Amino acid sequence: MTSTPILLESRPDRPPEGTAAADVVSVDVARLRAVAAAATGADVDRVLRSPHVDLAGFAALLSDAAAARLEDLAQAAHRITRARFGSTVRLFAPLYLSNECVSTCTYCGYSAGNDIRRRTLTLDEVRAEAVELHRRGFRHILLVAGEHARIVSRDYLEACVRTAAPLFPQVGVEVQVWDTDTYRRLVAAGCDGVIVFQESYNRDTYESVHLKGKKRNYAWRLAAPDRAAEAGMRRLGIGALLGLHPDWRAEAIALAAHAQALIRRWWRCEVQISLPRLRPAAGGYEPAEPVGDAAFVQLLCALRIALPGVGVSLSTREVPSLRDALVPLGVTTMSAGSHTEPGGYAEDSDAEPQFEISDRRSPAEVAAVLRAAGYDPVWKDWQRV
Ligand code: SF4
Repeated sequence: MTSTPILLESRPDRPPEGTAAADVVSVDVARLRAVAAAATGADVDRVLRSPHVDLAGFAALLSDAAAARLEDLAQAAHRITRARFGSTVRLFAPLYLSNECVSTCTYCGYSAGNDIRRRTLTLDEVRAEAVELHRRGFRHILLVAGEHARIVSRDYLEACVRTAAPLFPQVGVEVQVWDTDTYRRLVAAGCDGVIVFQESYNRDTYESVHLKGKKRNYAWRLAAPDRAAEAGMRRLGIGALLGLHPDWRAEAIALAAHAQALIRRWWRCEVQISLPRLRPAAGGYEPAEPVGDAAFVQLLCALRIALPGVGVSLSTREVPSLRDALVPLGVTTMSAGSHTEPGGYAEDSDAEPQFEISDRRSPAEVAAVLRAAGYDPVWKDWQRV
């Protein structure tokens, strides 16, 4: 890890120097976007032949010229995925702790203004959910909650991690972003991973959809994976909510730049990218520019070619046929049998889900489909000592 002390706790308008977040904001996305706009078939050929793909090469793989060569991209992505990850796909489940939220994000069902049924699990309920997920085969869970620092407090989150950790060697969190000391407490309790979607890397879009609450601070959020890594988190997950910003290529360039920067700065951590596309949710938000299936596949292939060792996670937002088809192209981690409302595994829950899911197959069914396609579903690949 870096040996330079980093001022990660301040909340200025820009991320602190020496962080992956600072590296990202220094990237000239507009210039790289112009590369994507101008790339020719010959440029795409050159990138596909190259052993190392930089951000300009990645941008070329997002071009219209590359879209016309989607089959070649898919073959390259498949080769790299096989070489780097073999025939394994990791399975995990989200465990929603709370849908309380004091932030207003226009695209999210949990947004503070939405009149929905709110619920926060007690520790006994967290334990019951964890036991049920363990019974279904999972050894990797992701604790998810809205942003409510009083109800979903540091103490509550730490207690939830301590409740789940004896059953699960891998416990991640996808909750509001915290300072380094809080991440340290979570690590000490048994948490080893954090997921922080920047949602949109474009500042104007970011501000236009995050209307109220702590999440409005773009720079504080962008540096959260740095703070988590500084605190000892082993796995760092990032993502952009595809469809929020009208230009998916610009978003993809910033996302790849962020992954690259995290790998460079925090080389001991495992970096993973998620590719969530906007789904219907309470509040009725409509994506500015839905990302179509062909663009989605192109993006996945480009990421796999440019960032060969990075894990890519795909959630149950996507329909079963697409999820199954994307595994050979670079997906390495999948959620399965998910509930996106607090409760719901151990017993029925009437709390509002964060978004609608499209793949309603059980974990056992997803695992069976993977096996039939020649893949090994991996429930556990890490043991806490
Ligand atoms: S995206 Fe997160 S912070 Fe925003 S409303 Fe939803 S749960 Fe709250």
